[in-house]
Amino acid sequence: MSEATTDATTDNASLEFRNVVKEYKVRGAHRTLRAVNDVSFTLEPGKTIALVGESGSGKSTIAKTILQLEKPTSGEVLIDGKRVPRYGRALKRYRKDVQMVFQDPFASLNPFHTIEHHLERPIRLHNAVAEGQSVHERVVELLERVNLAPAEDIVGRRPHELSGGQRQRVAIARALAPGSRFLIADEPVSMLDVSIRLGVLNLLARLQREENLGVLYITHDLATARHFSDEIMVMYRGDVVERGPSDEVILNPQHDYTKTLLSAAPDPDRLGQMRDEVRALLSQSGT
Ligand code: ADP
Ligand code: MG
Repeated sequence: MSEATTDATTDNASLEFRNVVKEYKVRGAHRTLRAVNDVSFTLEPGKTIALVGESGSGKSTIAKTILQLEKPTSGEVLIDGKRVPRYGRALKRYRKDVQMVFQDPFASLNPFHTIEHHLERPIRLHNAVAEGQSVHERVVELLERVNLAPAEDIVGRRPHELSGGQRQRVAIARALAPGSRFLIADEPVSMLDVSIRLGVLNLLARLQREENLGVLYITHDLATARHFSDEIMVMYRGDVVERGPSDEVILNPQHDYTKTLLSAAPDPDRLGQMRDEVRALLSQSGT
């Protein structure tokens, strides 16, 4: 198969997680823990899937397996219908295609390096500039894409000189820098102040639309899962116990665990309140 057949324009552009099992050895015991139990799904360009479940259900293990930070015990990850390469240029290309936004923007940015440095690295590594564009121009363009303005003022700063929300916007810009097609966002707003969460989620939603990204949105928040995703998968102890179009899963949950999650939302009013806030924000233009 030629290189061209793996381009984003092909019909089979997808990131597929196929029958993945991931077991960890339990320390000090002769047994294993099955963190992910035979999970399959396909991420497509322009679509968002939410992966929902309580802490310890296996969500981050799925993210790490996609990113090749963990090797599946069995099963496989495929990009555009082909097995993800283990090494060499093909793996580098996979890393350009699939990027991650981590939960903690403090931990994922180096305190000693400027924002410009953080963004320059992936741009240079993947040679991700337009014809005639300098790396600096691309850095500025990326900062503007994530609404960090004035970009020329941001480039020289270090992470601690930015707010949590601004740092997460830098992390998002960095994930976009290589020209990625798929974004894995592991609880991207759960460490941020409640008041700025929706702004960051709206930014992700806008970028997803404009760049036709396939997004895996990992969260334990059902309200935002519903409003920012086409489909929801509910995980419980390594199993996907329920999946379907977002509205269906939330309005008509079939599995007892989903019902429990819905009723166990920390504050019963919060779901409705979040929904109203999301609606209000979505009806505004911009962000
Ligand atoms: P979530 O992201 O949904 O909170 P994780 O994927 O982080 O869940 O963890 C799923 C399960 O796997 C948990 O029981 C966790 O303790 C276990 N686990 C995760 N990473 C490791 C590891 N490196 N070694 C051993 N057990 C792990
Ligand atoms: Mg996690």
